[in-house]
Amino acid sequence: MDQRTTTIECDSCGANNRVPLSRLKDRPKCGKCGARLPLGGGPITVTDANFDETISTSPVPVIVDFWAPWCGPCRMIGPTLEKLAGQMPHDVLIAKLNVDENPGVASRFQVRSIPMLLGFVEGEAVDTQIGALPPSALEGWVRRVIDKGRMIAD
Ligand SMILES: [Zn+2]
Repeated sequence: MDQRTTTIECDSCGANNRVPLSRLKDRPKCGKCGARLPLGGGPITVTDANFDETISTSPVPVIVDFWAPWCGPCRMIGPTLEKLAGQMPHDVLIAKLNVDENPGVASRFQVRSIPMLLGFVEGEAVDTQIGALPPSALEGWVRRVIDKGRMIAD
């Protein structure tokens, strides 16, 4: 059995909870106050090494932002993604993958133009957005991926 754990900070009381990766899908609660732990948020950095594990163990939909430091439009959408991650830590996990440093994942998903956003639910890609969007449209797209996650979970 998988014994690895991750530490999640409760957004109600601030307590740090150590949760086994194998229990994430059970929607764990805070050991101190009993509130549901935020299982998304971010942005986190994903790499060729941890990409598969991150998207397959996440109990909430994952948005992967394929980006590079030299890409102007990527820098435009970065702050919006960061804001959404902060607003919806129970609904979605925002992950960023630098395509220059992680050619394995980038070529697997045939990333030819960035920014490219992929939405994953239970490890499966459910939606793609290529190119930057204005903040409101970007939020709409993220919410659509979250809705697809709810449909699949029901
Ligand atoms: Zn708590």
